[in-house]
Amino acid sequence: MNFLDDAPKPHFVLVPFMAQGHTIPMIDMAHLLAKHGAIVSFITTPANASRIESTIDRARALNLPIQFVPLKLRCAEVGLPEGCENVDKVLEKEQVKRLTDAYSMLHKPLVSYLRAQSNNTPSCIISDLCQPWTGDVARELGIPRLMFNGFCAFASLCRNIIHHEKVFENVADDNELIVLPGFPHRLEVSKARSPGNFNSPGFEEFSEKILEEERRADGVVTNSFYELEPLYHEEYQKKIGTKVWSLGPMFLCNTDMSAMAARGDRASVDAKHCLQWLDSMKPGSVLYVSFGSMTRTVLSQLEEIALGLEASKMPFLWVIKSDDKPSDIEKLLAEGFEERTRDRGLIIRGWAPQAMILSHPSLGGFMTHCGWNSTIEGISNGVPMITWPHCAEQFLNEKLIVDVLKVGVAVGVQSITARTVEVHEVSVVKRYQIERTVLKLMGEDMDAEERRLRAMELKGKARQAIDGGSSYSNVKHLIEYVLTKKIRPEVQ
Ligand code: UDP
Repeated sequence: MNFLDDAPKPHFVLVPFMAQGHTIPMIDMAHLLAKHGAIVSFITTPANASRIESTIDRARALNLPIQFVPLKLRCAEVGLPEGCENVDKVLEKEQVKRLTDAYSMLHKPLVSYLRAQSNNTPSCIISDLCQPWTGDVARELGIPRLMFNGFCAFASLCRNIIHHEKVFENVADDNELIVLPGFPHRLEVSKARSPGNFNSPGFEEFSEKILEEERRADGVVTNSFYELEPLYHEEYQKKIGTKVWSLGPMFLCNTDMSAMAARGDRASVDAKHCLQWLDSMKPGSVLYVSFGSMTRTVLSQLEEIALGLEASKMPFLWVIKSDDKPSDIEKLLAEGFEERTRDRGLIIRGWAPQAMILSHPSLGGFMTHCGWNSTIEGISNGVPMITWPHCAEQFLNEKLIVDVLKVGVAVGVQSITARTVEVHEVSVVKRYQIERTVLKLMGEDMDAEERRLRAMELKGKARQAIDGGSSYSNVKHLIEYVLTKKIRPEVQ
């Protein structure tokens, strides 16, 4: 993979947004670049570094040239408790605002750290769209800043049009459907089900900075792959006028079991136990149910999922994350449910080794909240999906999965379930809806079989993209691009 054996090595500085769904793909990116011969500094904070310890250990064990750099976040100065360093630790908008302020205060320490790397002068910053302050850092050092956009091209194009055409400017009803002007085909979107990107009151300045730095970025890096969505990729690239480097599916650069088991946060389950359970199930029989890293499912919804899964009689592996009292959840599950489904169900409370689970031959379906990482992980493993979007861009990903790629069935969610929505406002999906959709996805009729075939075709394309195809070439060209970009003499 390494095509830089005798060439000078570029030094990439990766700055993720500190939310697991943003950090994990950038860790994969660090591995990908390092495996292609680059040197990587991965910027993090102490509390976040401790959460990804197993990933850090894994990179060390592989002897990869990745330096994890924990910079101290000045939480107290912005009025946050010490150690509150990740977006999943805060619920209120005001606290999110403080956290983004604290991140932007990393400017000076980051510049100092990078200036001290005299043997390894940084060549390029790749930073999350939500870390716009890094644009100033890159300019100060005279190196390019590429923006990591965690969306697919389909959703990115929608977001771009919504913003530039001011699609929702005079729309009072957040649920009104608007036809997206200039989209390659007819597509209806509503404000409530579109990406927000900090557009609520209080975030005006931050949001403006994101947009400004997006315009000034030297290019965009994504975790999608060209063959998955060529039309949207081309259109998105045309709209923004800079190169879009699709490097995905980036997690495929680490496909051995222990690397996949170590991915992300601290696991709540012994990966070996999980593997043994999956090994004991029939190939293609298990439905994996998980709604990503941020969503928290309320008790009334957990009950409907439990009863829907039970009624479907299908084997399942269900990951539960909830803010409700653990004792209430245990009571709900203990009411005979776990006993009745013992021979065909496994529940993980907390963090699951998702990449490992999705790659297992027993998997037959994935009930997902349609976060982009989960979506691309499902696609790359040839697993058809039940789409259950919760908020923002997830509704657009649902359209891509169900209507465009035709590898999924919608459970039929009508309204958003953001983390900040009050319990009584959550619109609960009923057990019969869940049962019906599970049977549709996991069934044996022609539609289900065709869906499986299409999913397997996409799996093949995803693997080709990374194994010498478009994503592989893009990594190569990205490294070449960075090597040819000279640092401005005045800052050398
Ligand atoms: N993930 C995981 N275990 C979990 C929950 C999530 O490994 O229990 C990983 C998942 O594989 C994906 C990421 O966390 O890589 C979640 O990102 P996604 O974009 O799907 O959703 P988000 O959490 O950002 O809403």
